[in-house]
Amino acid sequence: MPMSASFESRLYPVIQDIVHHFGTPFHIYDEAGIRDTGRALKQAFSRLDGYREFFAVKALPNPAILEIMKDLGFGFDCSSIPELVLGRRAGGHGMDIMFTSNNTSEEEFLSASRDGGCILNLDDISLIPKVPEMPELICFRYNPGSSRTGNSIIGNPEEAKYGITDEQLPAAYRKARELGALRFGLHTMLVSNEINHTYMVQTAEMLLLLIERIGEQLDIRFDFINIGGGFGIPYRPEDKTLDLEAMGAEITNLLLSFEKRIGYKPSLYTESGRYMTGPHGVLVTRAINHKDIYRKYIGVDACMSALMRPGMYGAYHHITVPGKDISQGSTIVDIVGSLCENNDKFAIQRNLPRIEDGDILCIHDTGAHGHAMGFNYNGRLRPQELILKTDGSVELIRRAETLDDHFATLSFEQKKLSLSKT
Ligand SMILES: *Cc1c(COP(=O)(O)O)cnc(C)c1O
Repeated sequence: MPMSASFESRLYPVIQDIVHHFGTPFHIYDEAGIRDTGRALKQAFSRLDGYREFFAVKALPNPAILEIMKDLGFGFDCSSIPELVLGRRAGGHGMDIMFTSNNTSEEEFLSASRDGGCILNLDDISLIPKVPEMPELICFRYNPGSSRTGNSIIGNPEEAKYGITDEQLPAAYRKARELGALRFGLHTMLVSNEINHTYMVQTAEMLLLLIERIGEQLDIRFDFINIGGGFGIPYRPEDKTLDLEAMGAEITNLLLSFEKRIGYKPSLYTESGRYMTGPHGVLVTRAINHKDIYRKYIGVDACMSALMRPGMYGAYHHITVPGKDISQGSTIVDIVGSLCENNDKFAIQRNLPRIEDGDILCIHDTGAHGHAMGFNYNGRLRPQELILKTDGSVELIRRAETLDDHFATLSFEQKKLSLSKT
């Protein structure tokens, strides 16, 4: 089930008013849905004191959304300087922010250590001497290599650039301790959009075995394990949903039995993006053209600048036409944007209700990795973002890009280097 029935029941009756007031295209996010999902996530791990979700900022980097996450008690998972800035502006400090970068630059390390610091998650052993000042709490990202398979989206760990190997782990913690680290965490991220909760349970199990082994070798305890993001959502109507309750119960039991055996238990952290916001966003766009050649095309007023996933990964996004149903007649069409790029299609050979110019289309599940991934190729500008608040009002939370924004980097001080020829 894509977009929730509850979001649909609140959005559709007012969609024409919203379109009339704000104009198309726009992404609109559902505050109530995001809050419900956040509460469900906390509920699933409620037997574990110290459980915390660090919202993956890259999925939906908008201050209004981060404010909701903060209100839910969540931290922020950041991997770049702009994401750190957003997290801090949203009130995240110190332990509220997990900095999970890779191929990290000196500038990023400096930014991470500023303003009360953060939980530093190191991606490689070679980065240890490059940390300007070893913090008290340090985390490493683990890559299990051939001992685990990722899923189809993220690929196999052995081919992934992230994390450090099994063999390198003890040396990494030893080195960090020599440089002053006193508290430790272990992180991994192995799957993306995974519906099968067993994957996440196995990941928690794997991390617990590792911290048991390393803990004994180095005589240290771990403050936390972080099983990453990657919790899946159903994009297709026939897709199953992640069994959050079973995942919570099974991982909780693993931690409780670890505690019985070893005498303490680490906190559990997650850092999901898609699961938190993906289903709670819709891209609303208007049909502006029809074209009938070898195939039938419906041209809409949004394009890849608003949503890259179909073009980039061939991802399925469900599409509905509010007020129209295929029972009243349907056509097989490609839904296309206007980029000079043939993969600028939101749907390919999809059976949809008969669409006329002017009809409003809802492209579902754009709440994560949607607007954020948009790009400006072909001079196509990114659309506005709106939020449907719990009180039923609709607010603009990011305006559409303008030509001035697009040309902003063409306004600069002249700079020239004359190289004298000999
Ligand atoms: C992208 C990313 C996430 C979030 O992934 P989702 O699939 O949106 O849950 C979490 N952690 C890291 C390190 C990431 O790169």
